[in-house]
Amino acid sequence: MTEAPASVEVLGCRLDCVDIDEATARMLAFARGNRPAQVVTLGTEMVVAARRDPTFRATLAASALNVCDTVGVLWAARRRGARIAARVTGAELLERLCAAAAKEALPIYLLGGAPGVAIEAAQRLAERYPGLRVAGAADGYFPAERAATLAEEIARSGARMLFVGLGSPRQELWLAEYLAASGAGVGIGVGGAFDAVVGRVPRAPERWQRLNLEWLYRLLREPHRWRRQLALPHFVALLLIDEVRASLGGRRTP
Ligand code: UDP
Repeated sequence: MTEAPASVEVLGCRLDCVDIDEATARMLAFARGNRPAQVVTLGTEMVVAARRDPTFRATLAASALNVCDTVGVLWAARRRGARIAARVTGAELLERLCAAAAKEALPIYLLGGAPGVAIEAAQRLAERYPGLRVAGAADGYFPAERAATLAEEIARSGARMLFVGLGSPRQELWLAEYLAASGAGVGIGVGGAFDAVVGRVPRAPERWQRLNLEWLYRLLREPHRWRRQLALPHFVALLLIDEVRASLGGRRTP
């Protein structure tokens, strides 16, 4: 049997072939260490966006760990020989890491969501994981001028793990710029995960998740997302074109 690759390229974006256990373990190591490490939950829309936006592309390339967030990326990665059992979502990582952070007394900070959501999510997580140290929480509707001050506040809070739910690509770009100043060992963009913690946007029932239909559940609940979800057919088309090009001896998308 050939050895499974540690990472694969999906339309020019690096995807690290890790499952949720390994992603959690690596992130804990980052949190304990003193070199800031950014983690990205790589989704289909992000891969498509990275093709148009060089800054975003560079951010994804520079991140310490890119995990597979969507069924589209999972499908593409498997076609590239990756052995990944399942998606690794921001919402699941948030829960796993809070459980581990509670045991190791690693303080966390939640940044993002509508006013009040991050604070409520922090309270819920602290109830769920006794011993969890919440260094702070702030909403995600702040003016650009406040970003640097916010990073200083996070640094003063002593947080080791920074969860940022500003939506993509804003959260990844924010982390690329401010993670070092925040003093946290690890930072990750988690999209709408705080909304899920407080039950504002429930996750799809487990059956839907198992059938890889979470995207359809979200589309039915939030029909305004249809335009964003066009990224999936766009992604599949780009991928197939890329494969045909490669099979004809051309170069894959850089
Ligand atoms: N959000 C925010 N500030 C903004 C725009 C969005 O904090 O300026 C939050 C929003 O409240 C939501 C999250 O970012 O909690 C985006 O969630 P979404 O489900 O769209 O994330 P994605 O699908 O991009 O992962």
